Amino acid sequence: MLAGAGRSHGGRTVLALALLAAAVPLACRPAAQRQARVAATVFPIYDIARRVAGDRVDVRLVLAPGLDPHGYEPRPKDVAALADVTLLFAVGLGLDPWAASIARAAGAGEARVFELGPLMDPILAPPGVVRSEPLIDAHFWTDPLRARHAVGVVVEALDGLDPEGGPFYRERGAALQHAIDALHADVRDRSARWQRRRIVTFHGSLFYFAARYGLQVVGVVQPVPGSEPTAQHVSALGALLRPPDGAALFVEPQLDSQLARTLARDAGVSVHVVDPLGGGPAASSYEDLIRGIAHAMDEALR
Ligand SMILES: [Zn+2]
Repeated sequence: MLAGAGRSHGGRTVLALALLAAAVPLACRPAAQRQARVAATVFPIYDIARRVAGDRVDVRLVLAPGLDPHGYEPRPKDVAALADVTLLFAVGLGLDPWAASIARAAGAGEARVFELGPLMDPILAPPGVVRSEPLIDAHFWTDPLRARHAVGVVVEALDGLDPEGGPFYRERGAALQHAIDALHADVRDRSARWQRRRIVTFHGSLFYFAARYGLQVVGVVQPVPGSEPTAQHVSALGALLRPPDGAALFVEPQLDSQLARTLARDAGVSVHVVDPLGGGPAASSYEDLIRGIAHAMDEALR
């Protein structure tokens, strides 16, 4: 069972709070009426959790937008912010290995890490130019249908934490899944118009998106996040990019793009920007994050 289930409200209080919630915008409500209990490591799962949670649970984001989860080292204030959290949603699959230690360091005792990634039918990035052996891609949310499944998992987790809120979470989860269905239909329509199908990403972040929408990730500039690729790897990438049939090259705002820009210049091709993590002003919701990826593909693959 999930920690903290014993802290549910009395029925009368919940009804009163629900009525109040319907009548008064969140920002106007006294802070004391909200309980900070849940956190999420990275933006995509944070946005899902906060939208399912509504104002029944205060959901916090650990990794500030713009930072790279692979190279992140928790700061003392990030740990302190988790002190009263009973559940920490994480991706797992190697993306946020610091989740367990930050939960432990927060000292809440009850804090537990809930990894969503292993429940999302993880896919293997194929061997080849990526690296010599296959690797598991952690960025499951770039496939909207997997994100849709994650919504259901988050609903169940919050229901376990706060059973009286179950119907509330289920209703909000259903609305979010409906929005994700529309998002998927939109991206699927757009993907039908993409002329090019081969892409090179900066790190292994878009295998799920590619698999869902008929693209092929033929190379990754930085196969191991944060480490320099070999000269052999760099020259193999150069060959993949060369016109006229070269793959489209993408960099990511969270990662240093110098190497990719040099590759693009040498191959005489342009470099495109794609944000697989979101959370910034241009991608402040899950849907905006995915539409941003689709927009980057519209520009690069027509
Ligand atoms: Zn990543």
